[in-house]
Amino acid sequence: MKQQTLVLIKPDGLVRSLTGNILTRLSETKLEIVAAKMCRVSRELAQEHYKQLKAQPFYNELVQYMQGELHGSHKIMALVYWGEEAIPKVRELAGETNPEKAAPTSIRGAYGRIRTTGLFENVIHASSDPVEAEREIKLWFRPDEIIRDLYPTKQAHKEVPVLEWA
Ligand code: UDP
Ligand code: MG
Repeated sequence: MKQQTLVLIKPDGLVRSLTGNILTRLSETKLEIVAAKMCRVSRELAQEHYKQLKAQPFYNELVQYMQGELHGSHKIMALVYWGEEAIPKVRELAGETNPEKAAPTSIRGAYGRIRTTGLFENVIHASSDPVEAEREIKLWFRPDEIIRDLYPTKQAHKEVPVLEWA
């Protein structure tokens, strides 16, 4: 079954110059990149992305991590991969959540670490099922930023100021 999945290269991945390596590993899957961009991550976006973990003791630090506050770099690279079994393929390559338990050949196994606080600094995010993928892709991307029609859209006419080249 063809699927789409959200991948985020977290601030540690960017700061440690792992972007190229991570994208090369992901290209082994032969999946298609249908959207990609650099994002500034607000507190609201980080909180919304991980809202299901709100009750966890590590939630506040996780939100800080995603905002780049632990790495002095407030950005994340967001991508959507599309193709046959995209969700399990990318999860497999990412490896287990805990980088010490992740296979050494996986992205998290190779590049992740555990902070002294216990937080898993694990380099990438990958959606874990189709429902999560839909929620996350819609959170990080507008329809016109994705080059395939993944979900139904509607026309909206909004009078909002936009930034354009001077
Ligand atoms: N996390 C953590 N400690 C835990 C569980 C999760 O630090 O015991 C962090 C880790 O960065 C992880 C993120 O919270 O990637 C989201 O957790 P989730 O359970 O969704 O794991 P994932 O889907 O990323 O493998
Ligand atoms: Mg998850």
